[in-house]
Amino acid sequence: MENCIFCKIVSGDIPSSKVYEDDDVLAFLDISQATNGHTLVIPKKHVRNVLEMDEATAETVFSRVPKLARAIKKATGAQGLNIINNNEEAAGQTVFHAHIHLLPRYQEGDEFNFQFVQHEPDFAKLAELATTIQKEVNE
Ligand code: 5GP
Ligand code: ZN
Repeated sequence: MENCIFCKIVSGDIPSSKVYEDDDVLAFLDISQATNGHTLVIPKKHVRNVLEMDEATAETVFSRVPKLARAIKKATGAQGLNIINNNEEAAGQTVFHAHIHLLPRYQEGDEFNFQFVQHEPDFAKLAELATTIQKEVNE
């Protein structure tokens, strides 16, 4: 879809730190890293959110989550992991291409900043982290 930032990530027009990819699903590090290893899982096909998703797409996307969650937890050394999905502006959705947030958690009261960061992330560090997670996904 034109003007969709995640479609541009799927097509490669915008770079991302990919942790997993198959024919239908892409997972990449969130640019904001609310916690270390914060990952987004998306269907490659553009769909606005879960409210507009058909069952086949839901099955495809959600079925990848356990494998990715385990890999992220292992690669980051996290103790736990939250799965969050925002649908529509009222629920905090800011990018209107469906995505599931996988948020590694490290201890009670760890930093969980779900705000969009304004500063430039360290892209080299993100690439390194993505490679570490990729290796665990492929284990
Ligand atoms: P939402 O608020 O819609 O649930 O989450 C959208 C997420 O997309 C935010 O956490 C934000 O940091 C992330 N995001 C926005 N633009 C980009 C981008 O260009 N690249 C990456 N990797 N993440 C992005
Ligand atoms: Zn899109």
